[in-house]
Amino acid sequence: MMSKKSRQISTVRSVMAVFWRVVAMVWRTSPWAITAQVVGVLLSALLPLATTYFAALSTTALAEVYAGHGEARQLLIYVVTTVVLGVMSSFWGVVQAYVEQLLRYRVESAVIDEMLARLHSLDFWRYDDPATIDTFDKARRFTLSFPLIFLQSITIITHLVSLIIGLWIITSVSWWLGLIALVAIVPSGVVQFRLSRLQAQHWRGNVNTRRRMYWMENMMSQPSMIVEMRLYGLVQHLLVHRARLRDQDQLRMIRYERRFMGQRLGGELLQAAAEVVALVWVTLEIVAHRQPIGQFVLVQQMVGRVMSSVDGLISIFNSIDEDIANLAEYQQFMALPVVAAGTAQLPSLRDGIRLRDVKFAYYGADRSVLRGVSLEVWRGQHVAIVGENGAGKTTLIKLLTGLYMPDSGQVLIDGQQLQSDLVPAWHRQLAVLGQDFLRYTFATADDNVWYGDVSRPRDDQRLARALRAAEAADFVAKLPKGGANYVDKWMESGDNKGVELSGGQWQRLALARNFYRDAPVIILDEPTSAIDAAAEARIFRHLFKQKDKTVITVSHRLSTIKKADIIFFMADGKIAEQGTYDELVAARGAFYEMFKAQM
Ligand code: ADP
Repeated sequence: MMSKKSRQISTVRSVMAVFWRVVAMVWRTSPWAITAQVVGVLLSALLPLATTYFAALSTTALAEVYAGHGEARQLLIYVVTTVVLGVMSSFWGVVQAYVEQLLRYRVESAVIDEMLARLHSLDFWRYDDPATIDTFDKARRFTLSFPLIFLQSITIITHLVSLIIGLWIITSVSWWLGLIALVAIVPSGVVQFRLSRLQAQHWRGNVNTRRRMYWMENMMSQPSMIVEMRLYGLVQHLLVHRARLRDQDQLRMIRYERRFMGQRLGGELLQAAAEVVALVWVTLEIVAHRQPIGQFVLVQQMVGRVMSSVDGLISIFNSIDEDIANLAEYQQFMALPVVAAGTAQLPSLRDGIRLRDVKFAYYGADRSVLRGVSLEVWRGQHVAIVGENGAGKTTLIKLLTGLYMPDSGQVLIDGQQLQSDLVPAWHRQLAVLGQDFLRYTFATADDNVWYGDVSRPRDDQRLARALRAAEAADFVAKLPKGGANYVDKWMESGDNKGVELSGGQWQRLALARNFYRDAPVIILDEPTSAIDAAAEARIFRHLFKQKDKTVITVSHRLSTIKKADIIFFMADGKIAEQGTYDELVAARGAFYEMFKAQM
């Protein structure tokens, strides 16, 4: 087991490591900011010290002039210098506020942009991978505190510089004054450090408790969710539960604070005693004419500054500590491999798609979902994939579209193996609509359709055709602003008030987006589950009339399946039966058994 001491040292090391990495990152985004900060650190540490130093000189000179043997000119120079330094200090404060804000903006934007770019270029399978998403969540939390960490690190250096110079100045008055200051700050520093460490440990150990509490609070403050909770009489129960979690998290912190109160008071007492001893000593020295009178001001101010630097150091050091864990996650996330841009070209589908003995298991799963699937889809063919829930239909679509690569076997497009460099070109030929399609709630109805192909400006004729083909034209026309209407009740701009759409209407809009894309290969995974049977029949009649389009659809509706040129019946990760509707019915096999109730 690591000893307490070495654990603390390793924390010190990791804080330093974080600092250097952060500096390196900021240097990449804005080198001038680092330069400004280095100058800033020196100025903010030195200006106050210099002001104090000249104030002491002024006091000594003043006393001498008062006693009648000093030089008034010299005194005035000291006084003016003290004032100028003080003014510079305040001026620098103003400039620093601006530099900090700008730096924050720059660093935050750069880090978040970089992270999103990485998120958008990962392998597709990673979006399904809880470990990746967890890392991303933590990394994102880190980006929020990233600029803060940088600024805090800068403050740490400022405190360190002013601590060292302050101690040096005190020691230059008398070495044993320096010793007294050290003796006063070390114990209270240690106490503070231990307390913050305990609090940080507690904080880290309670991440899950806090997350549960926040999620609960979040749910309990959303009007749309309160209704169900009240209907079930759940509110009081959840409130009590939440209060318990809150106590578990926060009361402990407060108890730590109480436990350390005695020691902290002791530390404060020691500091006060040191200050008194130092001041009494310097007073006696001045009275005995062994020190100039200004040393009183110097010692009094410097001791105060040194102590506050130590306090500042400890508190920042511990708050920065909390972010270190997230930094590791951030780096882990940023180290995830990205997919190469995929420059390969793919001519428009000529012959067709072929799967050859494709086997596939999801990452981390011990059971294969696809256990040797072979099939052919010719260009212009209209294909239905059917089978029970969990048979592997959606997974098959994911492999067909190149989102996942097979563990063994091949997916061939016109005889070319679908590999990652080909995937972007393949996607340009596909219009895919899945079961959990997107609802662009921030956009208008028309935009929801246009998003099918933003590579060109919006084409209103094409859009109207797509809406008609998806049986969405009627309801869109009836919206108060037609296609320009927002499609979420929370969206509002001027007199364009968003309306709430039904599940079926959303599905029609998504289908229109798919048709708008005008792709040669259309892949639909149960796209009409919420659309009434008559409308679905019309949609597919229209779709299957287009002989130039290859259509692959996963469906449970007999009326649609009947119209397909070929049906693949999947069971347990394999193609169990295939043929036309009539052939499969005549075979009286598994397909027939599944659908006979609908026949
Ligand atoms: P279908 O579309 O035929 O209902 P799926 O292809 O969606 O079937 O799922 C097939 C099997 O794969 C199911 O047992 C399901 O639990 C599993 N599965 C689906 N998606 C994932 C995933 N992202 N990670 C792990 N297992 C998955």
